[in-house]
Amino acid sequence: EQAPAAAQTSHPKGLYLLFATEMWERFSYYGMRAVLVLFLTKAMMMDKSFASKFYGGYTSLVYLTPLIGGYISDRYWGNRRSIITGGLLMALGQFTLFFSASNYGPAETHALSHWLLYLGLGVMIVGNGFFKPNISSMVGSLYSATDKRKDAAYTIFYMGINLGSFLGNTITSLIGDREGHPEAFRWAFLACGIAMLLSVVVFRWGKDKHLHTPTGEQVGLTPVQSGGIMGVYALLPVLLALILGILWLDSAKFPTIAPLLGVAVLGIIYMIFSDKSLSGADVKGIMVIFIVSFFVVFFWAAFEQAPASLTFFADEQMNRTIFGYTLPASIFQNLNAIFVVVGAPLMAAVWTALGRRGAEPPSPLKMAIGLALLAAGYLVMCFGVHDLQPGVKVSMFFLVALYFLHSAGELCLSPIGLSLVNKLAPVKFASLLMAVWFLANAAANYLAGYMSSLYPDPKSTSPMPQILGFQITNLYDFFMVFVVSAAVAAAILFFISGKL
Ligand code: GLN
Repeated sequence: EQAPAAAQTSHPKGLYLLFATEMWERFSYYGMRAVLVLFLTKAMMMDKSFASKFYGGYTSLVYLTPLIGGYISDRYWGNRRSIITGGLLMALGQFTLFFSASNYGPAETHALSHWLLYLGLGVMIVGNGFFKPNISSMVGSLYSATDKRKDAAYTIFYMGINLGSFLGNTITSLIGDREGHPEAFRWAFLACGIAMLLSVVVFRWGKDKHLHTPTGEQVGLTPVQSGGIMGVYALLPVLLALILGILWLDSAKFPTIAPLLGVAVLGIIYMIFSDKSLSGADVKGIMVIFIVSFFVVFFWAAFEQAPASLTFFADEQMNRTIFGYTLPASIFQNLNAIFVVVGAPLMAAVWTALGRRGAEPPSPLKMAIGLALLAAGYLVMCFGVHDLQPGVKVSMFFLVALYFLHSAGELCLSPIGLSLVNKLAPVKFASLLMAVWFLANAAANYLAGYMSSLYPDPKSTSPMPQILGFQITNLYDFFMVFVVSAAVAAAILFFISGKL
């Protein structure tokens, strides 16, 4: 029954189907996100601080809904239905943003556009909850449990993610982020909507032919309980209303998402640790997942400044002209995707080479290195903005160096952390502990929005922001906060990594 050994080194066609589906979806997610804060500040006339928090609220909820989507998919819908429904919802969300951006302006005079903006993002948050956890878990199910090609499959898949991010970011920056043309943002959203539809079309076309296990069983088709299919459709509007309420309360009234995340974490801790059947070794493994997830929060909170404060910086404080052509501010985020696509195979080769000499660092140590690289990226930036005179712009070298170091850090931390969670989680709690990893992302993205709201805006009249009694008066102080927080987190993780 086994295929000949030679054929085992290539990958099933299903992997390339999931690759293409995820690539077009990430085009849409990262493409939209790349120009979002500029759209909010330049077309919708929000101030930078509000736009930052709004961005953080949106991306935070994007990582919270997979908890619900994963649950519904496991019990009622199965992977395939979840991916198609989630994908269509996200396309609808992008088209809603297109209409919002077609008649842009401040909230006082353009209330309908602002409501459409909330609605579009809310629909995308719900859609993502169904799409993302399902596409990621399907990759693994194309292989048998012990198949050695699984790690390589996830590396190929991670490259699909970043190829999509690269294409999306490039297109939306070029057609949407045009100096003095706020009317152009809508074309970015339209492109993202079309990309999202392409993702669904590709998936629908190939799913029956290519998504099966090595023994030919269809993957992601049969939900555990099929009775609730229609019931879940009826629940969708309730879920959407809930998400919209949270998003609106959080951005317009008071912090709502942060306490919600706290409750979710406590709930999960209770669910897991009240289970008496866990062995001592299980409990230790689960503790490691929680500890590592905590450190990861500091990583993404600083890393995800890319579409927020780092884009404000590129827009206003950086010289973007090269060979007489001025690059759009949002296009610099692309460097991350490029460095990851080029760097992923190199990094894998480095770990393999070290492994052959028995010198491959254990996972928590790799993650500490990732945090240290992140701190180093911001340190380079601090040199760039040190003693910056008003009206002088910084060379783009510093931002390029920052993205290089951050991407190297991402490769030390993100795929490593994912597989660590997979290895340590008892089967019974595998999905729930993956949700803990997602929740760390949700908390981090929320924090990222909050941190970006402290960006020192020379034009702002409000008092200088403070953090733990430390006053942020200029860009140097601002970037230094990330150097210190990431370096401290790296040092602590470094010292406890042996124990972990
Ligand atoms: N870039 C990866 C993705 O989009 C991981 C992002 C993350 O975990 N924050 O899937």
